[in-house]
Amino acid sequence: MPSAPDPGRRRFLLLTAGALASCVAAPAIGAPRMPTRRSLALGHLHTGEKLDLVYWADGKYQPGALKRIAWLMRDYRSDTVHPIDPRLLDLLATLRQRLRVSAPLLVVSGYRSPASNALLASISEGVATNSLHMAGSAVDVRVPGRPLAAVRHLALSLRAGGVGYYPRSNFVHLDVGPVRHW
Ligand SMILES: [Zn+2]
Repeated sequence: MPSAPDPGRRRFLLLTAGALASCVAAPAIGAPRMPTRRSLALGHLHTGEKLDLVYWADGKYQPGALKRIAWLMRDYRSDTVHPIDPRLLDLLATLRQRLRVSAPLLVVSGYRSPASNALLASISEGVATNSLHMAGSAVDVRVPGRPLAAVRHLALSLRAGGVGYYPRSNFVHLDVGPVRHW
C-alpha cells in the first residue's frame, strides 16, 4: 500500500514550483517562433488522468497550471508531487506543435521519488540510479498517432537535452539535462 501523501511536503514542493516558475520566465527553446501562449495536453498511461491547459501566458509560466501538471506527472506509486522543470514542458509543447498532434501526449513516467527509482533500477537495466526523473527534469512519453522513431528524430534535432529510445517499451525518454542520446 502506498503511504498517504504528506500535505506539508506537497505544499512545500508546490510552492517551490511557483518559485521556480517565476525565475525561469524566458522561453527555453524555439524562441523566434514561440507563441504568446503555450499549451499542453497530457494524459497518463497508468492513472488515466488527462489535462489540457495553457501553462504560459502574459509573459510567464502560470503557477496554477504548473501545479496541475506536477500533479499529473507525480510519482503515481506514492502520490509524491515534485515541480516539473518548465523547460521540459516547453520541449513537450514544441514536440506537439511540430508533430501537429491534437491528442494528448501520453506520459509513461514523469517524476519518480528516490524510492520508486531505486525499485525500478533494481529490476530494469534501463533505469539509471541517478535518473533525472528524480529531479522533475525527465519524462518517458509516447505520442499517439505518430511513429516512435519520428518522435525520437524530432527530439534529437531540437538538441534540448537527453533522448533515450525504448522501442520495445514504446516510449521515448526526454530530459533537459546535457544533450546526449542512447
Ligand atoms: Zn526516462
